[in-house]
Amino acid sequence: METDADYRSSAGGISSEVNAARDTGEPIRAVDVIRKKRDGRELARAEIEALVRGYTCGDIPDYQMSSWLMAVVLRGLSRAETAALTDVMLHSGQVLDLSEFATAKVDKHSTGGVGDKTSLVLAPVAAAGGLIVPMISGRGLEHTGGTLDKLEAIPGFQVTLSTARFREVLRACGCSVTGQTGEIVPADKKLYALRDVTGTVESPFLICASIMSKKAAEGIDGLVLDVKTGSGAFMKTEEDAAFLAELMVETGERMGKKTVALITGMDQPLGRRVGNAMEVQEALEVLHGEGPEDVQALCEELAAWMMLLGGRTRGLEEAKQLYRELIGSGAALRKFREMVVLQGGDPAAVDDPAFLPQARRAADITSSRSGRVSAIDCKNVGTACVILGGGREKKEDSVDPAVGILLHKKVGDSVAAGESLCTMFYNDETRAAQAGRLLQLSYTIGDSIPSAGNLVRRVISKTPAG
Ligand code: URA
Repeated sequence: METDADYRSSAGGISSEVNAARDTGEPIRAVDVIRKKRDGRELARAEIEALVRGYTCGDIPDYQMSSWLMAVVLRGLSRAETAALTDVMLHSGQVLDLSEFATAKVDKHSTGGVGDKTSLVLAPVAAAGGLIVPMISGRGLEHTGGTLDKLEAIPGFQVTLSTARFREVLRACGCSVTGQTGEIVPADKKLYALRDVTGTVESPFLICASIMSKKAAEGIDGLVLDVKTGSGAFMKTEEDAAFLAELMVETGERMGKKTVALITGMDQPLGRRVGNAMEVQEALEVLHGEGPEDVQALCEELAAWMMLLGGRTRGLEEAKQLYRELIGSGAALRKFREMVVLQGGDPAAVDDPAFLPQARRAADITSSRSGRVSAIDCKNVGTACVILGGGREKKEDSVDPAVGILLHKKVGDSVAAGESLCTMFYNDETRAAQAGRLLQLSYTIGDSIPSAGNLVRRVISKTPAG
C-alpha cells in the first residue's frame, strides 16, 4: 500500500483499481476487512462502505469497529481510502443545500485543543459580519474539549437540531451550531463517540474523514481549519500538523470549497479557563472585547480568514478591522445571545455568567518552589478536566458542565513557593484528588523560560491573504 510519502504525491479521488478490487459479488465480512487493514493492505471502497454503513445502522458491533479503527491508527490509510471514507461518511446522511442564502456560507473547525473556545466567538462574529455560519460541531474528544459540550453548559441550549430547525435558526440569525444527528453525518456521530473512548483519535486520516465529512455536509462555500500542534494537540509535531493540514485543504478544495488551514500552537491551554461552563464564560469575555490576549488574537485571526474566504473584505488586515468593529459595537455579542435564545438556551446565562452551572468546591494547586513556569503539559491539563467529569471515559458517560480549571500561571509567568498555579473547580472529592495530582505534575517550574513560539505557525492556503 502507499506510504504517507507516496500519499502526498498521489492524486485525490478513488482509483478504479481500488474500486474494482472487491467487486466479486461475495458478501463483505467485517472480520475480513479488519484483518486486511491489520495486515497493511489497501481496502476497496466497497469494503469501507460495507463497514461504515453496517456500523451506522447497528449491524456491526462496537468491538469490530474499534478493532478496525485501531488497525487504521497503526497502519494508516492511502489517499484513495481516505477519500472513500470521507465520502461514505458524508453520504451516510443528508448533504445540506443552502443555496437559498444569497451570502457566502463559511465555517471554521479545529482539530481539537484544550481551552479552545473560539467557535463560540467565531460563529456569531462572522454572522454579525454578514456571513452564514452553518456549524456542525462535535463533543469533547479524549483530553480535548468539544463545542457541543460547552454550549450545552448554557441551561436549555439544544445541540441536536433537526435539519428543518437548523435552517430556521440560520434564516433567523445567520449562525447555528448543531451536532451530528441521525439526519446529518450519522456515521461520524457514532464513530466520533467510539473513537473518543478507544484511543483511536490520533490518526490524520480518521481526523480528516471526520472533519471533512461534517463540513461537506454543511453546504458551505469556504472553510477555515485550525490545525493544532503541540503537547495538547493530537498532532504533536509541526510536521504531523502540516501533513494533516495539507490533507484536509486538498480534500476541501477537491470538494469545491475554498479551504485554508492555520497551524496554531497548543503547547499550553488556550486562555485561562478549561471546562465547559468556564469556557462559555471566557468566550463571553472575548465577545465583550475582554478576556485573555491569546484567545482574542486567535479569534481575530480565524475570523479574518472567514471574512476573507466569504468575500466580505479584500484583505486580511481589513478583515481584522471588521472583527474589531463587530466586537467593539456589541454586534457579535448580540448575535450570540440571539442564537442562544433560538436554540432554547437561557439568555440570563449570557447576560450574567453567574447563571451558568457552578461547581460546589474549589482547591488550589500550589507551587513547591519559586521560579518561572517553563512548561505546562497541556494534554495533562485536558485529562485532569476529563477526570473531574468535564469529559467522558466511556461513551455513555454524562458530562459535568460546571467543573474545570482556572489557570493563574501560564508559561513565562513568575511564581513564588506556595503560590497558586491554578484552581480546580469540582463536585467529587475522589476525582479531585486524582486530577489534582495530575495538575501538579503538569507544571514545570524552572529558572528560565523557552522562547515563545508564534500562535499561528503556518498558513496553508490557495487564497492569498490580500
Ligand atoms: N474534530 C473532529 O470533528 N473530528 C476529529 O476526528 C478530530 C477533531
